[in-house]
Amino acid sequence: MRALIAGNWKMHGTSQALDEVRKLAAKAQDLACELLLCPPATLLERAVAASGGRLAIGGQDCHWERAGAFTGDISAAMLVDAGARAVILGHSERRQFHGESSTQVQNKARAGQEAGLMTIVCVGESEAERQAGQEKAVVGEQLAASLPPLSDPQNCAVAYEPVWAIGSGRTPTLEEIAAMHGFIREGLCRLLGPAGEAMRILYGGSVKPANAVEILATAEVGGALVGGASLKADDFLAIARAVTGKINQDAPTVR
Ligand code: PEP
Repeated sequence: MRALIAGNWKMHGTSQALDEVRKLAAKAQDLACELLLCPPATLLERAVAASGGRLAIGGQDCHWERAGAFTGDISAAMLVDAGARAVILGHSERRQFHGESSTQVQNKARAGQEAGLMTIVCVGESEAERQAGQEKAVVGEQLAASLPPLSDPQNCAVAYEPVWAIGSGRTPTLEEIAAMHGFIREGLCRLLGPAGEAMRILYGGSVKPANAVEILATAEVGGALVGGASLKADDFLAIARAVTGKINQDAPTVR
């Protein structure tokens, strides 16, 4: 399986940003990783068209129901209909600003998987939780409660994103990243059995071209979830180029 480099544009981007998608698409085929871009929902269909099928496009959230009276929400089937191949779920900004619980994240991930989307399930501790030495307890709990039981490497990846590293320019040390990814791997194997052995664990939080090589070479890091540095194609591509080989031999999943 190749490393997955996923970009999260959050609430950034109008029509002009499609130029960045075109730039990415022009280079995406030369990369050793799988590239995924998650623009705002308003750009999804146009990003799919601009990508020319050369990189995968995904959503940033979906509802757990297939349809219904949920004003402002988007179902997994709607994402698929717009051409999305993947969806980010349980991002800390959704947990923090929309009060999403791990149970809701699990239901959303189940809906995404049933619709055929690759689900990226985010977990991560706050700064206070790390300072109190509770980071593993918090992440372990989020993992157990957020992952649908039928998750496997083809329909799911976990993103470890320490909340304090997101958009802050700060990152954990490589030792801290390796320790948490190793802990998540153990949790995945316990929760999912053999399916947990090959599931990609992405690191997210202030990944940029200058630190991508060392982070992506860290044990159990199977890719990256990138916010700010995914907004410019050149930076995002520089991060993607930091991936030089396969992390194991399975088929690609989001193309
Ligand atoms: C994110 O929001 O998922 C993220 C990792 O952001 P940034 O790369 O900007 O820290």
